[in-house]
Amino acid sequence: MSLLEFLKKWWLPAALVLLASAPSGVVLLLQEALAPALASLAESQPTAVLKVFALLLWLCLVLGAFLSLQRPWLRWDEPTGTWVSRLSSLRYCAKCKATKIITPLKNEITGWRCMHCHNFFHDPARAHIESAKMKAAKSERI
Ligand SMILES: [Zn+2]
Repeated sequence: MSLLEFLKKWWLPAALVLLASAPSGVVLLLQEALAPALASLAESQPTAVLKVFALLLWLCLVLGAFLSLQRPWLRWDEPTGTWVSRLSSLRYCAKCKATKIITPLKNEITGWRCMHCHNFFHDPARAHIESAKMKAAKSERI
């Protein structure tokens, strides 16, 4: 793997991890300044800290629900009719995903096959390649 391919594959996840950890890093950097303010807030309004904690917990659960339901790491590939992972480039069965089952596809000579529902997805980029079945049918005719 060349350096450019490595950067293409990992720059987005690395940037997302840095972006996600930035708020926590800022809080940790400013903890000396924030601790007295938080202590006085907790003394004057004890329920406020609990409300903030409940809001953060709710945000985490909403984010988890969004990720598990929407799966934003999958992208629809129009020409092949399959779902493609943005992270690993693996393809997934559209028929199975409609029934909430995520099944990776097996790579075959002219396309991909789902090993769960046995549906076949043709690859337009490999349309020039004849499958072994078609070759056998042609040779029988001659
Ligand atoms: Zn399937």
